[in-house]
Amino acid sequence: MQPSDLRNLNIAIVGAGYAGAAAAKALSLLGATVNVYEQAGAVREVGAGIGLRPSTMDRFRQWGVFDAIAEVSSPSDYFEILTATSDPIAKEEWPEIATYGEKTHLIHRCDFIEALLGVLPEGMVHLGHKLESVEDEGDRARLTFAGGRSVTADLVVGADGIKSVVRALFGDNQPVFSGEHAYRVVISVADAHGLAVDDNLRMYIGRGTKVYFLPLRHRDQVSFDITALCPDPTWAPKVTKDDLLKTVEGFDPRIVDITRNLDMDAVNCRAVYDIDPVDTWHSDSVVLVGDAAHSMLHHQGQGANSAILDAGALADALKEAGSVKEALASYQAARKPVTDELQRISRQGWTEDEINDVFPGQKPNSQQPSSEQPQD
Ligand SMILES: Cc1cc2nc3c(=O)[nH]c(=O)nc-3n(C[C@H](O)[C@H](O)[C@H](O)COP(=O)(O)OP(=O)(O)OC[C@H]3O[C@@H](n4cnc5c(N)ncnc54)[C@H](O)[C@@H]3O)c2cc1C
Repeated sequence: MQPSDLRNLNIAIVGAGYAGAAAAKALSLLGATVNVYEQAGAVREVGAGIGLRPSTMDRFRQWGVFDAIAEVSSPSDYFEILTATSDPIAKEEWPEIATYGEKTHLIHRCDFIEALLGVLPEGMVHLGHKLESVEDEGDRARLTFAGGRSVTADLVVGADGIKSVVRALFGDNQPVFSGEHAYRVVISVADAHGLAVDDNLRMYIGRGTKVYFLPLRHRDQVSFDITALCPDPTWAPKVTKDDLLKTVEGFDPRIVDITRNLDMDAVNCRAVYDIDPVDTWHSDSVVLVGDAAHSMLHHQGQGANSAILDAGALADALKEAGSVKEALASYQAARKPVTDELQRISRQGWTEDEINDVFPGQKPNSQQPSSEQPQD
């Protein structure tokens, strides 16, 4: 599109998570007028770490925000997969380092969202705006928020996460319970029982349990995440220290000790959900990005990364296409095959035997959408 057409574009983004904040940055760099509407009164994230891949860091460089992210993260060269008792299974350089000349950066989720929102112009994000409905009017769309306020935009970007209201325009795609719980906490290096030896991610695999150990050296902390098969779909399950200790039975004694010493008040316990692939991500004036489009399980560590790459691809498509309509089609063509595949492989986290232990005769990911819905 011509720079003058892009400057005349009025874009409304729903949701100020990673996808919404990144889309706001990328689309405002095109010169468009961008407003972000977020339901929460303050944007918060769980205490946990995340790995920002080289392609994601490359986007940040293009947008001029690399330093803001690098300041609050630690570069990492590789990840390692080990048995529960710390015998090495595989050690690999993070993919894409050679292609992009950037490392993967390990970051605390709170620092990440703060850094992303911090590079947006004052006044762009409108908190306390809970979207209730969206009406597609062809070449524009209308958003109506709780309390009755409504706005129209030439382009609405649905970045409203796994329970997306915007996605309802494109079908009834409900969250699907994975059959897993994730117990996430950030601990100090001093409490890591000597396991924090460098800046690389380690995943320890036992029967029905994976422990992700992600150092955050710049904070002198480690993100410690136990993901375990569990049939309870309650979104925020009540979990005791004994429950946690059962999931790491037979693990390296240092992992058991870390678990034994955890402050349960600090541990974020969630059932894990994703969605099936969504057939269509856009109309002529409404488009989905991030988890709203393709929520995936976390075994490949690609959900937030995909959200950032969506934002970059959407901005590229608008710049290169002749119209918004064409741009949305080429954005979906570029991104959906990639995220369909990531959704698929992210579901391959467990062996048949492990699944059968917890769900006799059934695969957790072939369950129907749960009536228990994620709350945030
Ligand atoms: C246990 C676990 C570990 C993970 N680990 C990783 C990892 O290592 N690497 C990785 O890349 N990804 C990881 N992910 C995935 C990643 O967290 C998500 O993919 C990412 O947060 C999606 O960002 P988003 O902005 O699309 O959605 P969200 O973060 O869900 O943000 C959506 C925003 O929209 C707002 N919103 C929702 N509804 C409305 C409404 N009606 N009106 C207005 N606003 C609304 C919400 O309040 C929220 O701020 C993990 C996920 C889990 C569960």
